[in-house]
Amino acid sequence: MAKKKALILGISGQDGSYLAELLLQKGYEVYGTTRGSASVFGANLKHLKGKIKLIHTTYDVKSLVKILSRVRPHEVFNFAGQTYVSKSWSLLHETVQSSPVLVNNILEAILQVDKKIRFFQASSCEIFSQHSGLITEESPIAPGNPYGCGKAYTTHLVSCFRQQYGMYAVTGIFFNHDSPRRHEDFVTRKIVKRAVAIKLGREQELVLGNTSIARDWSYAPDIVKAAAKMMRMKTPQDLVLASGRTHSVQEMVDTVFALLELNPEAHVRIDRALFRPSEAPAIYASSKKAKALLRWQPKTSFHDMLKRMVAYEIRLQTGAEVDFRDERPFAL
Ligand code: GDP
Repeated sequence: MAKKKALILGISGQDGSYLAELLLQKGYEVYGTTRGSASVFGANLKHLKGKIKLIHTTYDVKSLVKILSRVRPHEVFNFAGQTYVSKSWSLLHETVQSSPVLVNNILEAILQVDKKIRFFQASSCEIFSQHSGLITEESPIAPGNPYGCGKAYTTHLVSCFRQQYGMYAVTGIFFNHDSPRRHEDFVTRKIVKRAVAIKLGREQELVLGNTSIARDWSYAPDIVKAAAKMMRMKTPQDLVLASGRTHSVQEMVDTVFALLELNPEAHVRIDRALFRPSEAPAIYASSKKAKALLRWQPKTSFHDMLKRMVAYEIRLQTGAEVDFRDERPFAL
């Protein structure tokens, strides 16, 4: 039987690279798009050279039609785009181009090439950021920043295409999910990276924004597993993917510093300039529906995720050879 083919838009980021590994493990032929050169396998993809095919592209409809016609994927996953919530205020154009416009273009290209191609779109808990507390699929969408507005639009658009054209197009609404592959602009990696540097005597201080904020954090490979499963539901639909538990940023600081046997009070400084203009004090989600429909649940706890991140960061900063060899949840 011919291998299943998947095309991952934005393959070089945290989620795209984990998904590539998972799908390779499942026997898929994996293609991924990058805005950079197709011969450059960055940090997250180095170990996948020779196993995946990279395609350099812009994301206009014409280019996407060309790629879809050439690759003929069974499944398309979209993780591409501007991923920073706070920067979305200053990167308005990029945020709109890489979220609403890009998803528009992908859906249009799929319709032109073959509407049987299945499509997965990654959305975010930021579509609910004007709420606080428990979120489910039924919660009214109410974004509070341009990033969330973009994701709100794409969530509605994917659902419209599903209804209008009978396409298998779904949105996974991801709550916070991190890993050693996260960029240090995210709070998890920022805390881990700086705390390890403090432990090694290279830095003295960790400056943070609002540490009383509580979020629902999962380990990225767990979330990516659910995304892959969402392509095989009886009835295509949108699902919230989260752990169901909240932890504050302060709890994260305390956990990471305890793992490194450091006293946070001696090193952490709060800077109000890093506070976000408006955000939910605490938000978490029930993934009851996803658990029932996908037979899925996140396996790695908040504490274990941070342990993995600290262990990885120590190897990275002490110059040990790091190419995710010890950080591969999906054996290849
Ligand atoms: P996001 O939720 O996708 O924007 O992921 P982040 O990891 O950037 O932020 C998670 C939460 O941590 C947000 O509620 C931030 O307000 C909070 N936070 C507190 N201090 C910081 C900080 O110094 N940097 C970042 N990135 N977030 C912080």
